[in-house]
Amino acid sequence: FLSEKSAKVFVAGHRGLVGSAIVQKLRDLGFTNLVLRTHAELDLARQSDVEDFFAAEKPRFVVLAAAKVGGIHANNTYPADFIAINLQIQTNVIDSAHRHGVKKLLFLGSSCIYPKFAPQPIPEDALLTGPLEPTNEWYAVAKIAGIKMCQAYRIQYGWDAISGMPTNLYGPNDNFHPENSHVLPALMRRFHEAKVNGAKEVVVWGTGSPLREFLHVDDLADAVVFLMEKYSGLGHVNVGSGKEVTIKELAELVKEVVGFEGELVWDSSKPDGTPRKLMDSSKLASLGWTPKISLKEGLCDTYKWYLENVKQ
Ligand code: GDP
Repeated sequence: FLSEKSAKVFVAGHRGLVGSAIVQKLRDLGFTNLVLRTHAELDLARQSDVEDFFAAEKPRFVVLAAAKVGGIHANNTYPADFIAINLQIQTNVIDSAHRHGVKKLLFLGSSCIYPKFAPQPIPEDALLTGPLEPTNEWYAVAKIAGIKMCQAYRIQYGWDAISGMPTNLYGPNDNFHPENSHVLPALMRRFHEAKVNGAKEVVVWGTGSPLREFLHVDDLADAVVFLMEKYSGLGHVNVGSGKEVTIKELAELVKEVVGFEGELVWDSSKPDGTPRKLMDSSKLASLGWTPKISLKEGLCDTYKWYLENVKQ
């Protein structure tokens, strides 16, 4: 991969949190032939449009970072969208990529593919060993199908499709929607608005006790390049930071980075979701990759981006 910097690389989902970081990383590394399409230019859920795109462009590499994503509330509210759109996008892209001569494809999933009560930290082989967390099972089922599809194409055709499963990600270009985003951007925005408006309190969902692992998206982008270069196995690979915090600790840290001085109020009518979700990323570590950005550093970087882009 790294020896083919003029080869065509299609990054699907390049405007999102993950895709934009991957594009930046590839540009920094000197890749000169990136193929990018906005949602308006190419709807990846439409099979015939995806087919036409691959027939015309014939990319050599594909990173599949396009998905319908959202936090706990969005997953609960739009289950049909989360299962259907994700199955459509990934099925269309993986199948068309294979049939149009793509050399290697990397599919990105999420840590929510694992059973609710998986052993912690969660190893790759915990997949499909128990029931899923109900608040995001629609998204998880689609992502599990994507992993299995990559495996099936490798087994049947010897095609080089791999899957990476990132832990909870954050960073520039995240979705900062007040209800539908993930916890970290939601809190950053809420604390920021409270600070600006001089509010005394900020509401945080749940009990604060769930544990979550966070990875800065620039670390993920680095891992994606690493896997494209070094990994061609049948099994998916976890990509985590190995560090977990409680939602309460996260809220305190975001509050500090934003500089909000009021109080936290816990709304326990909102769901906590899964109690703990730490990935075992030792497989990736044994391949030779480790993350570099601490949560504190990453939060400062994300808040800086937020301040520069808040008006948009
Ligand atoms: P999850 O990791 O799949 O459960 O997704 P989220 O990032 O949406 O939620 C993580 C945890 O943060 C859950 O325990 C939520 O209840 C809690 N949380 C606290 N405040 C918020 C908030 O404002 N938005 C979201 N999405 N979650 C919050």
